[in-house]
Amino acid sequence: MLTWKRIEQCPKIRRLVLNDLRSGLPFTELKTNKLSQLERDEAEGSIVEDHERVITFRLRTWQNLIDRLTSIAGERVAETLLSQIGNSIGRSGMEYSRDRILTEDDLWKVFDMVLQARGWGRCEGLSKEMVSGGSYIFRLRNTPLSYQRRALKPMCYMMRGILTGWLEAYLGTKAKTAVEKSCAAMGNSLCIFEITF
Ligand SMILES: [Zn+2]
Repeated sequence: MLTWKRIEQCPKIRRLVLNDLRSGLPFTELKTNKLSQLERDEAEGSIVEDHERVITFRLRTWQNLIDRLTSIAGERVAETLLSQIGNSIGRSGMEYSRDRILTEDDLWKVFDMVLQARGWGRCEGLSKEMVSGGSYIFRLRNTPLSYQRRALKPMCYMMRGILTGWLEAYLGTKAKTAVEKSCAAMGNSLCIFEITF
């Protein structure tokens, strides 16, 4: 579990330190970024992480926002939009993480670190099937969109896009197909994504 420790440093700035992150990582041989430090500047109404401003909101608020987008745009358009947005996130995530990926096994280990650090759940593993250009099967737990939700079909379009962009940027080629084969929102324990090249 991540714990937040509040340090009173000056009257206006409360420093929040994300600790226990490194000790919570199962892959200690991998180099992690230095521990994230969030500074809350109450006078400016801002939170800063490593000199970059971040904003936060409740997961439920984000789920409502996605639901609203889906009801306005329609499911098909929303699916495309969310997976494309996810794709951009995955691609830029790879730009930040490429140096830490030394083997194909690191593809999911580093992805797991990023998810864990960002509160987006966990990646439990990756298997690869050698069909045509290769098929990558990611197993994810506790994904934000499926969290405490029920659905009749897979709903993690943005996460599907993130994984696709992550792999596409690593491999330098476009995926042929990207499918969420099983979703926690359908009562399964994991969300399982298959991305084929
Ligand atoms: Zn899912």
